[in-house]
Amino acid sequence: MEPDRVRDTGEALRAAGEAATTGEPFDLPCIRCGVCCTVYQVRISPAEAMAIAEHMGLERWDWVGRYCDPRWHDTRSHLIRHDDGGCVFLNRFSGEVSLCSIYEVRPEACRDWAAGVFKPACRDGLKRFWQLEASEDGQLQGSAESLARLDAFLRLR
Ligand code: SF4
Ligand code: SF4
Repeated sequence: MEPDRVRDTGEALRAAGEAATTGEPFDLPCIRCGVCCTVYQVRISPAEAMAIAEHMGLERWDWVGRYCDPRWHDTRSHLIRHDDGGCVFLNRFSGEVSLCSIYEVRPEACRDWAAGVFKPACRDGLKRFWQLEASEDGQLQGSAESLARLDAFLRLR
C-alpha cells in the first residue's frame, strides 16, 4: 500500500549504523517498493468508493464495475481489483519505485499502513530492489554499495 511519505530523508545509513551499534531495529521508512500493494487486496467502504469515483470523475457504480473485484459479494464493502501487477491503482514509476495513482484519496487501510523492518512485504522490497536483507533483530544487512545506494535514494526524496 502506498505508504506514508519518507520522514527524515537521508537518515538511512546513519540510522542503520546506529541500529547496528545499539542493537535497536532499523526504523525503516517506506521505500515505495509497492510490494504491499501487490500482495494485499484492499477492502473499502461505499463512502470510500464514492470519494475515489468522484475524484476520478466517475459515477460510483461505473467506478465499481471498472475497478472492483467482481468476485466480492459483500454488499457493505468493495474489494479493489488486482491485475497482474497488483492493485489496479499501482503504477510502476521506475525500477524500484511504485506510486499510487489515487494517492490523495487512497483508502483508509492504505493510509493506516506503515512500513516496518519486520513486515514481510517491506523485507521483500528491500531484498528485491535494494539487495538488502533485514536480520531477525531488524538490522539492515548488505554490501556497502547497496546501503549507500539506498541512502542516496532516501536523501533525494
Ligand atoms: S489504493 Fe494505492 S496505496 Fe492502496 S493498495 Fe492500491 S496502489 Fe496501494
Ligand atoms: S512494502 Fe513496505 S516499503 Fe514497500 S511500499 Fe509497502 S510499506 Fe512501503
